[in-house]
This record gives sequence, C-alpha cells and structure tokens, in this order.
Amino acid sequence: MLAQRTVMLKSSATAAARSAAKAAAARGKEIIDLTAGEIWSDLASSVREGAIDAINCNVNRYTETLGLMELRHALARKISAETAQPWSADEIAVTSGAKQALFNATMVLLNPGDEVLIPSPYWTTFPAQIVIAGGTPIFVDTRRNNYVPRLTDLAAAITPRTKAIVVNTPNNPTGTVYDRDILAGIATLAVERDLWIIFDECYGSFVHAPHSHDPIISVAPRARERTLIVNSFSKSLALAGWRIGYLAGPNAVIDAVKALQSHTTSNPNVIAQHALLHHLGTKNPTFQLRLQRHIANARALGLSILSALTLVPQPAAQGGFYFYLDLSDLQMRTKANGRKLDADDVVSALMDAGVATVSGTAFGDPAGIRLSFGIDLELLDKGLRRLTATLNELTFCFARHL
Ligand code: PLP
Repeated sequence: MLAQRTVMLKSSATAAARSAAKAAAARGKEIIDLTAGEIWSDLASSVREGAIDAINCNVNRYTETLGLMELRHALARKISAETAQPWSADEIAVTSGAKQALFNATMVLLNPGDEVLIPSPYWTTFPAQIVIAGGTPIFVDTRRNNYVPRLTDLAAAITPRTKAIVVNTPNNPTGTVYDRDILAGIATLAVERDLWIIFDECYGSFVHAPHSHDPIISVAPRARERTLIVNSFSKSLALAGWRIGYLAGPNAVIDAVKALQSHTTSNPNVIAQHALLHHLGTKNPTFQLRLQRHIANARALGLSILSALTLVPQPAAQGGFYFYLDLSDLQMRTKANGRKLDADDVVSALMDAGVATVSGTAFGDPAGIRLSFGIDLELLDKGLRRLTATLNELTFCFARHL
C-alpha cells in the first residue's frame, strides 16, 4: 500500500497536457503545441561559457546547501537593484528552480490545517504543494474582476487559520499584471491580518506596455518582513531545464529552508550555479532583451490573429507569454452532448484540429484555456490560425451533436 498522501496527489495537469500533445504527435498527428510553460530559445552565450568553464575546471563537488556564496551575493545585488532595498546573501537560498523555492516556502511556513489564499485561476502547483505540506488552499475567484483579486474577496476569505497568501504577478495562467494599488492593498491586508506573502515573480521580465512589474515590497516596504520572493531563470533566461531559481526572505525562513534543503536535494546543480554566476557577472543584458523582444513580437502576432475570434474576447496578455481565453460567452451558446460545454471539450476539439492547449480545469477554471506564445513564430502563426478557425466554428460543430 502506498502512503495516504499519494491519494491527494495528481501529476501536474500542465505536464499532462504537454504529454498528451507529444503522444498525439507520436501517433503521427501533426500537432502544434501551445502547451509549453517555457520559451523556445537558444542558450545565452554567457551561460554556455560559464557552464563549459566549470566543466573544464572539473567542477564536480557539492556546494553549500543554499548555493555558492558568490552566487548568493550576486543574487543579493540583483534583488537589491530590483527592489531598491538592501539585500544580503544570508537572506537568499538558491534552489532547483522556482518550484523548489515554493515547496521550501510551504514546508517551512505551514502547520497542518493552515489555510493559504490563492487567487483563482491559479498555477496548478500552488495548491498541490500546499496540500503536500498539510495545508489547505482557499481559492479566491478573480474571474469577475479581470483576473485581479478584489481586496474585499480576499478579506472575506481570511479565517483564524489563514497563514499566507500567494501573489503571482505576472500571472500564470491569466497573463494579468497586478498594478501598484492592488499590490499595496494586498500588502496592507497581510500586515493587518498577520499573513505571509508568497510573491512569485517568475514572469517579471515579460511585461507588456503600459503595464509594469513591481515587486510587492517596493510598493509596500513594511511588508518585507513577511514576504518571500520566489523567482527563477527558467523563463527570464529560457533555462527551464537547468533547474535554477531562488527564494529570498527573512533570515529565519532562509535558515529553516537550509535545514530542509539539506535533507532533500542539497545544493542545486553546481554547473547551473556556475553558469548563472558567470552570466550575472557579465552584466550584459543583450540576451534577455532579445528574449523580451521575441516575446513581444510573438504577442503582437498572436493578438492580431486572435482578433478574428468571434465568440471569444481578446485576451489581455499583460505579462508573461500566455494568452488566456475566456470561453464563458461561447459556453452560453454551445452545448456538448446536451450539457454545458467545458474547457476540456474545447481542448479536445482543438486537439482534433491539430492544436494542443491547456484546459482551464488545470487552473481551477472550467471556462478558460491557456495558449503559450513562447514558441517559434511560424508555428505560432499556423497554430493560432487553426485555433481561431476552430473556435469560430465551434458552436456549429457542437450544435450538430445536440
Ligand atoms: N511559478 C510559476 C507561476 C510558474 O508558472 C512556474 C513554471 O511554469 C514556476 C513557478 C516554476 O518554475 P521553475 O521551472 O523555475 O521551477
């Protein structure tokens, strides 16, 4: 018999969508895959050089559990510049991607039964990790407010058991960027109600004008002592497979994370650490700017194709690299086999048409689908044209099944 906790665990729904696309392609179907949570890109040359140098120098040993001290210093400088506040190396843990940073955070913050507020739709791993840590995710619906949580809704969801709130901006899956007012409001709520803020800014380097990304502690410095910043280089440097990220927060949290991480993974991959250290040392923004330009071009191309959608409103895509489509209107007009159409039906109709997308059910929203535009532009063009044609015909297709 397996442990009880395995019953609560399902494999990541976004990973499952990716696998379904790959399986269909392996069966010989031509699929354009818009499920990816990463950017198709080559490597930054500085990252490549740092990694190769480390290998040529026979780097092969453990580092300190929380990462190379020089790297933690370099990250402290980066975060100090981004937040306009001084940070030191002992407030930073280098982790195997943001996922481990988030896992560490939930494991060191939560007691069994503690509640954590999560604005919904949400990235699928947030509630899963909270459950693993023994906590209870409490979802706060944002769909009636352009995917931004209302402060009144957040306040109403707080109970004596509430321990933390997850703030993910730019948001996965919705692409929403929280403005300074909402960040200030959330920070005030956290201070007044004594909550931790888990601030996930993994998509912070992809923000589309007129929006801008602000770390919550820059807007509300008094929330710093209760905020954990989570970030990684999976998106900003297109290094998803290298598994390198960080958690930044108060010393007591980082000390607890050190103990936890020393018994789980130990240090993150040493070659990735050296590569990142070398990259940060070059202070050369060229690669990152190129990636940002690529994403901005992909977004513009995508929005122009999606403007032909007749039954689905244009997505906002304020940040990150996802279009999040709201299917509510489509659902009002269409039934699938006599019942209300849901996002899974739409995803399978799109898969039949040769486009793989992620159903909003993975994000707690049966009325949404997520499309990644981090892929090659030609494929994106083709995939979105197919998708637009399919969605515009969808009422008609499903009506035939009534
Ligand atoms: N946080 C959010 C909001 C994400 O979307 C992802 C990955 O898709 C992560 C964290 C995890 O990032 P990493 O690959 O660095 O573990």
